Amino acid sequence: MNLHILLIEDNEQNRYLLSFLLQSRGHTVTQAIDGPGGLKQAMATTPDVILLDIQLPTMHGYDVASALRKVDALAATPIIAVTSYAMPGDREKALAAGCDGYIEKPIDPDTFAQDIERLASVRPGRGAPA
Ligand code: MN
Repeated sequence: MNLHILLIEDNEQNRYLLSFLLQSRGHTVTQAIDGPGGLKQAMATTPDVILLDIQLPTMHGYDVASALRKVDALAATPIIAVTSYAMPGDREKALAAGCDGYIEKPIDPDTFAQDIERLASVRPGRGAPA
């Protein structure tokens, strides 16, 4: 499986780590550092999967997810929230905003790429458990 993955993440160390882990499994990673940049990249490249940080500058991750869902070409693209938000209800908010799955930081480097592959391949659909 070789996936084209768009990673929207403002933290440079996280971008480096997640990209490294995904590329090590043979995937292609495109990066964006904020919501507007992520939307632009998503429309330009129609990735197989979008990984979305929730705490982003200028545009909140939930708003980015909602905006991505409004793009016809991305309507069925799995969006996976990758976030350190761990308050009760955050997972539900991410799913309600259009995300298909939710992974909490800190991520587990041993399983992260495989978790993404699993979430991408099952494409659970909006609101379904991931
Ligand atoms: Mn962030």
